[in-house]
Amino acid sequence: MSSIKENLEHINEKIRVAAEKSGRKREDVLLLAVSKTVDVPRIKEAVELGLVDLGENKPQEINWKYYEIENVRWHQIGHLQTNKVKYIIDKVCLIHSVDSMKLAEEINKRAAAKGIIMDVLVEINIAGEEAKHGVPLNEAEALAVEISSLENVRVKGLMTVAPFVEDPEENRKYFRQMKNLFVDIDKKSYNNIDMKYLSMGMTNDYEVAVEEGANIVRIGTGLFGARDYSK
Ligand SMILES: *Cc1c(COP(=O)(O)O)cnc(C)c1O
Repeated sequence: MSSIKENLEHINEKIRVAAEKSGRKREDVLLLAVSKTVDVPRIKEAVELGLVDLGENKPQEINWKYYEIENVRWHQIGHLQTNKVKYIIDKVCLIHSVDSMKLAEEINKRAAAKGIIMDVLVEINIAGEEAKHGVPLNEAEALAVEISSLENVRVKGLMTVAPFVEDPEENRKYFRQMKNLFVDIDKKSYNNIDMKYLSMGMTNDYEVAVEEGANIVRIGTGLFGARDYSK
């Protein structure tokens, strides 16, 4: 098995090449290390290699890892139930998975109580898959605008989990649709909407995502190896 260091070097190089294809540089793309199910020593190894943005899909996991690992930024990337918002509201820097006004309102309420403004992304179910969370592409702008009325929440961009496919080229059209909407919303300069992050691309398809304009990629397996859910 290759080491986290080797994996990281490989990924950095792939991101660099893909970023250059879209007229950007390696440093224009944030590599978010997805540390779900990964134990603390291995996460610390990644942090020592310079990875300070960590993504988790379960609030419960952020809730304890937060106290074990210092000087990092946690991102909530998985589906978030409204009753779990309170556990992470003061622990994360960005919630990638907002797909309803109800959830945004709960985040707003909890953020207000802490005196903070929480940055969020609107999650889009780009291929309309039944098992996936997120709003349809054609409803995302309306949701972003609705959320922008909340005082303690700030829309910072869009996120998607593309279909799991053999050939990542199959997802190129979806990444392109995401980018087009990202640009469209940005052009309209809505108050309280700052189209800064386009979070898309995972181990299987991040190169295509970056070529199409992603500026956050969320990578777990490619960095830490296959996840062990038995522990
Ligand atoms: C697990 C997960 C990832 C990372 O997936 P890999 O294929 O292991 O890179 C990215 N985004 C979300 C929302 C996830 O839940």
